Amino acid sequence: MYFHVPVKVYCENNCVRAHAKELASFGKKALVVTGKSSAFKNRSFDDVEAALSMRGVEWAVFNEVEENPSVETIMRGRDKGVAEGTDFVIGIGGGSPMDAAKAIALMIRHADAGADYLYDSSAASDALPVVCIPTTCGTGSEVTAVSVLTRTNLRTKGSIPHKIFPQLALLDGRYLGSAPRSVICDTTIDALCHMYESWLNTKATDLSRMCVDAGLRVWARSKEAILSGTPLSLENYNDMLLASMMAGMAIAHTGTAIPHGMSYPVTVETRMAHGKACGYFLPGFLREADPAEVSYLLKTAGFTDIDSLEAYYQATCRPEKVPEYVLRESIRTTLASPSKLAQTPYAVTEATLFRIAGL
Ligand code: NAP
Ligand code: ZN
Repeated sequence: MYFHVPVKVYCENNCVRAHAKELASFGKKALVVTGKSSAFKNRSFDDVEAALSMRGVEWAVFNEVEENPSVETIMRGRDKGVAEGTDFVIGIGGGSPMDAAKAIALMIRHADAGADYLYDSSAASDALPVVCIPTTCGTGSEVTAVSVLTRTNLRTKGSIPHKIFPQLALLDGRYLGSAPRSVICDTTIDALCHMYESWLNTKATDLSRMCVDAGLRVWARSKEAILSGTPLSLENYNDMLLASMMAGMAIAHTGTAIPHGMSYPVTVETRMAHGKACGYFLPGFLREADPAEVSYLLKTAGFTDIDSLEAYYQATCRPEKVPEYVLRESIRTTLASPSKLAQTPYAVTEATLFRIAGL
């Protein structure tokens, strides 16, 4: 059993400016990687800009990361980082810019390599230092070594084999205040999936479960506020950000399981948001698992049974119906993924996946 999360984490409001010295300590010029607009509206970029200027560190911005970032975007980010002479990378945003920041940091370090390098498991994984600043409350990417990219040519998503932990994560719930309710709802369900998929996992240990246990209790504190539809408090945002980070620490050790595996074709084919797509398969995944374990997990998050969790998911995420051909693709790709099947603590046949998909 081991526990390894080599990321220094600050969870406090105003932490970007308060820890400017550490943020600026990773190099002379940062590549700041963001999505199209949110980082510029929720003040996270302003804080980073102020912190770097305060310490005399330069920066360049790459703000072209789309949701579910593609390999092509990573290569454009790499070209910008190399052209600007950057020597560390700061990812600001949801999982998409944070995952992109890790992959871009890898590719700047290996500036002469082609895109195939990203999925070459025999290639070296050294990367420029990465700092992550999450502005959604779902992926926990700020404490995992995982970078999930869209492989446009293969019409699928997949984690790169390189393990790239950020060195520093700065969590400030204020940045979530500008997020649409749909982003908050979808990403809180992603965090819940991470915790349940990590616990119900053949790789789970007492240490990974410690993160799930603590994370579920924090998650439960703001569960009803999110369902209510009324404005959320800073305390709610800080809770959900913390729960998401703890969930990230859990999956950093176990990986995710069947709901994530089944979600990827749904996102690629229908563009359903990541957390919403994972949540689609969560009730079915739980119905197949050990009832005693499931009962404990539900109770800890404040649910009475699987039906009440499903009702919560429907009410908060409002999922569209997934076409049958896409669900069949989800089943096909999951059956072809030995690692996802091996991580599931119960026998999985095609019939099991049909039930999980609701077919
Ligand atoms: P996201 O794709 O990063 O962002 C979704 C949307 O939310 C974007 O339109 C973004 O706008 C907007 N947004 C983000 N923060 C906002 C804020 N504070 N205010 C207003 N709008 C905001 O969503 P995500 O669910 O966090 O990340 C999903 C990605 O993470 C997927 O690619 C998934 O595969 C990956 N993932 C990674 C891990 C891991 O361990 N590394 C785990 C789970 C999932 P902008 O584009 O303008 O920023
Ligand atoms: Zn996820």
